[in-house]
Amino acid sequence: MAASGQKVDLAPGLYFVATPIGAARDITLRALDILTSADVLAAEDTRTLRHLMEIHGVPLGDRSLLSYHDHNGDRARPKLMAALAQGKSVAYASEAGTPLVADPGFQLGRAAISAGHLVTTAPGPSAAIAALTVAGLPSDRFLFAGFAPSAGGARRQWLADLAAVPATLVLYESPARLRALLTDLGEIFGADRRAAVCRELTKRFEEVVRGTLQDVAAAFAERPVKGEIVVVIDRAAPRSASADDAEAMLKEALECQSIRDAAASVAEALGLPKRQVYQMALKLSAG
Ligand code: SAM
Repeated sequence: MAASGQKVDLAPGLYFVATPIGAARDITLRALDILTSADVLAAEDTRTLRHLMEIHGVPLGDRSLLSYHDHNGDRARPKLMAALAQGKSVAYASEAGTPLVADPGFQLGRAAISAGHLVTTAPGPSAAIAALTVAGLPSDRFLFAGFAPSAGGARRQWLADLAAVPATLVLYESPARLRALLTDLGEIFGADRRAAVCRELTKRFEEVVRGTLQDVAAAFAERPVKGEIVVVIDRAAPRSASADDAEAMLKEALECQSIRDAAASVAEALGLPKRQVYQMALKLSAG
């Protein structure tokens, strides 16, 4: 049985509605309820939202469906703000995924917050989170960086600024620029850094290529690159502690600790073998 929305009482306010990034049935039941019940609908692409509503049997009825995107925001925002000021519920969906995530919605949300309206969301799919979920890279801390600049020099500088960020990086990229991005990544981050190219997630030709930056660049070198793509890159390996680091820390620790305690705390802090640090501490305190 096809899921369809239920008519619910919505408080006046702005509802950011996440929509599928591929599989139409990834819409949430609550998103369908909101699309069924909002007084006013707005979308980055009205045809896409209309189509999604048709798939799920959500009637538009005599409600307005307004277009709101990057190029008409200044003209369209006052209309949506006026609806909010009249106490209406306004649902906004971007073309796919979560609004505001490399998609319009920020200025609208900010204006609604400034005017004191309720701003809430029906959360759901986002390609960034879907890619992080399947990449096989640490997910405890990540940075979503969006699209890299398309011009070569600006892109390389942008990547250089990200190279040492201690978090897994999530980038969006177009198929036409994937190879150039992977080449720059290999040069700037090092060919051994682990990465995953996540393509067409939740769609028929979903594919995840995992490996070092060198491996994934090789995988896409000889074939046409198509579809929608997220690139996920591991953080830089922590710098391994040198003998100089250990010596400097030991000197400080020995000022207030016994040889044994100083060696134990420095070995633990730097992840070095206790025996090795203890020998170093003995030498330092003897000399
Ligand atoms: N707001 C959306 C979200 O929450 O994911 C992202 C919109 S952004 C304009 C579109 C980009 O998202 C695409 O160029 C691609 O990098 C990524 N993307 C969207 N759908 C995808 C999918 N099914 N598989 C892989 N990447 C996808």
